[in-house]
Amino acid sequence: MDKLYSPATARQIINKYGFHISKSLGQNFLADRNIVENIVRGANIGKEDLVIEVGPGMGVLTAAAAEQARLVIGIEIDENLIPILKDTLKEYANVRIINGDFLKMDLEGLIREAYEGNREGFSDVKLIGNLPYYITSPIIMKVLEEQAEGTQGIRSLTIMMQKEVADRIRAVPGTKAYGALSVAVQYYCTVNMVAVVSKEVFVPKPKVDSAVLHLSMREEPPVELLDSATFFAVVKAGFGQRRKTLLNSLTGINGMDKQQIQTLLDSVGIDPIRRAETLELKEFAVIANYIKTESKEV
Ligand code: SAM
Repeated sequence: MDKLYSPATARQIINKYGFHISKSLGQNFLADRNIVENIVRGANIGKEDLVIEVGPGMGVLTAAAAEQARLVIGIEIDENLIPILKDTLKEYANVRIINGDFLKMDLEGLIREAYEGNREGFSDVKLIGNLPYYITSPIIMKVLEEQAEGTQGIRSLTIMMQKEVADRIRAVPGTKAYGALSVAVQYYCTVNMVAVVSKEVFVPKPKVDSAVLHLSMREEPPVELLDSATFFAVVKAGFGQRRKTLLNSLTGINGMDKQQIQTLLDSVGIDPIRRAETLELKEFAVIANYIKTESKEV
């Protein structure tokens, strides 16, 4: 797949097919061998793996993944890219391209079908992608929420995104970048930085730098939750008004008034004047579990 590894050749393909790059679909094509190799190495793809790719574009990552995996399924929303992908990936019998919206995909059904169509099965299911930046968080949250309970679900995500979003995902309490996205992703996954990527390696060049993260689904949750919906409601309320104290930002949750929130925070030993951005995952869990227990008793 040497032909896609430079900005000049990526442009040649675009010209050959008279393809119009769509900004609104977040199309910034990767044209650098090192970064492609970094992503594939970071994903740790084995010969027996099933790889699901979000937005294969012109197929640069898809081809590199197909060299390693048993099967690669790419989901691409732009129908104008489908004939290009047929051409650039023609030498790979182990690639399947679906023209559709990743956000609307039935991931469990897709994986089940892949197993049914493959007698040998797969060791692992791994997701990769140079994500369309306008929907980075919805894509990640869809995978985490849908796969958390899946038995043959996606085990890891190795994904490129804006560096600023990667920083938010990795952020620790007490920092400006720490927020609901950090807590949600860190609840489901362990997070590792694979690479920081300059905007120079894309066609067209985006305005900001990017980063590749490897998210590995946890086998066990890092905190015991009585109810994950209550946990995420607390996180959402806390960060919804991040400048407010916990006493104020949590008031109203589950119908609780200020006095009840004061009692709650006193009971669990969390200072009510703290803000959500200072709370560790386990502190959100303690608050959520208390609320869940209280509401059971009512
Ligand atoms: N993987 C290619 C690469 O690295 O060169 C393309 C990456 S580009 C940043 C994002 C790709 O996702 C584009 O091909 C775009 O058309 C596709 N895309 C955008 N929204 C999508 C969606 N909702 N579902 C599936 N693909 C989508």
